[in-house]
Amino acid sequence: MKPLIAANWKLHKLPSEVAAWVTDLHGALETANTDRLELALCAPFTHLPALQTALVGSSVRSGAQDVSAHDTGAYTGEVSAAMLKDVGVHYVIVGHSERRDLHAEDDALVGAKVKAVLSSGLVPILCVGERLEQREAGQAEAVTLGQLRAALEGVTLTSAAELVVAYEPVWAIGTGKTATDSDAQALCGAIRGELRGLMPEIADEVRILYGGSMKGDNAAGLLAQPDINGGLIGSASLDAASLAKIAAAC
Ligand code: PEP
Repeated sequence: MKPLIAANWKLHKLPSEVAAWVTDLHGALETANTDRLELALCAPFTHLPALQTALVGSSVRSGAQDVSAHDTGAYTGEVSAAMLKDVGVHYVIVGHSERRDLHAEDDALVGAKVKAVLSSGLVPILCVGERLEQREAGQAEAVTLGQLRAALEGVTLTSAAELVVAYEPVWAIGTGKTATDSDAQALCGAIRGELRGLMPEIADEVRILYGGSMKGDNAAGLLAQPDINGGLIGSASLDAASLAKIAAAC
């Protein structure tokens, strides 16, 4: 399966900066073997039209960082999956720990968002992962798999391309602390095992990403693990050369 390197720009950059940044990325990617991987840029809503324009003719795909669970109605400030589809977006990050923590998104809401994304024909990048205190209490796997099961309850998929799961230990996000290759593999392997129970026909082909301070110098070891099929990249994705370095490690 093709690894996926997905950038999460979070609350960074301006729409007017997107075109030049994409040009920089395409320049920086020349040395990487981009046929062997897929790249996606998950940008703030305001940036998505400019991103679509900048990516015309490119194999790089666009993504959003969140979505409403609702299709339409009196939900001021919300953006629906259908709206994202109409702009041309392919991926939607759902259940990022910053949404869970800072916006009180619980498993039920994350599950509703996954369903909204799927019903519009977009692909959720479903984020799961434990906090530091949960890891220290030996609950990393139970917490992560509990989030996975909750988000996928009632979901039926026919193709592995319809879903991406990102294992993101919360303590590793934006902290510079990365899970060891073997700890990351252990949890991604557990996610694979759970997917085999939930969707046996396609589980082995669903891409599982690792996210949490992945950089050019630690990417190769993480990406070499059997159940790590790519990365969700925050800080290191803000710089085109750094992102290209991770892509080259695939
Ligand atoms: C993220 O926000 O999903 C992430 C992995 O961030 P960082 O790479 O900065 O840890």
